[in-house]
Amino acid sequence: MKPLYLASIPKSKRPLFVPDFAAESILDVDFAAIRKLGVKHLLIDLDLTLRKKMTRKLEPAIIEYLTITMKKHGFSSLNIASNNMLDLSGYGNSIKAKVFQPFWKRLVLIRKPHRLFFDRITKTLGADPKECVMIGDKLRGDVFGGNQAGMYTVHVKPKGQDYWYDLILFTRYRERRSLSRHHKK
Ligand SMILES: [Mg+2]
Repeated sequence: MKPLYLASIPKSKRPLFVPDFAAESILDVDFAAIRKLGVKHLLIDLDLTLRKKMTRKLEPAIIEYLTITMKKHGFSSLNIASNNMLDLSGYGNSIKAKVFQPFWKRLVLIRKPHRLFFDRITKTLGADPKECVMIGDKLRGDVFGGNQAGMYTVHVKPKGQDYWYDLILFTRYRERRSLSRHHKK
């Protein structure tokens, strides 16, 4: 994991899509460093962060790493924060994580990066946003959403191949462009 991303610029002066950390994968996230920041609650995206597409289980290496991480660093809770609408309880159970998914509020589907999606998580956990980290592969849903909610954020490289809708929407291309523009400033 790269140490504090653009640490020279205070978080309040950075665009919301710029993460605090960047890591190659979930296995590369430095949880000791994150715990030192006062983080107690881990919020992790599912698709392309914890699992590749078209897979129905988490890889044993990931389950083991997260189980050890929770014990070793004494985090209070492990949570999956996903925009996926399917039943994800199997993934949650395998790592003893709570699962947070989109919900309806007055005919509006509340999902990442919506502020209310993250508010519901902090309320349920009884947590301060500053005690939370959002880890995910999407700059908009995960990083922007987490930063906007006042959490720490880690951007990981997408695991395996992209979903068709990201290929069509050029999501990755736009992400790279946003970041490289920011670096040029
Ligand atoms: Mg994802």
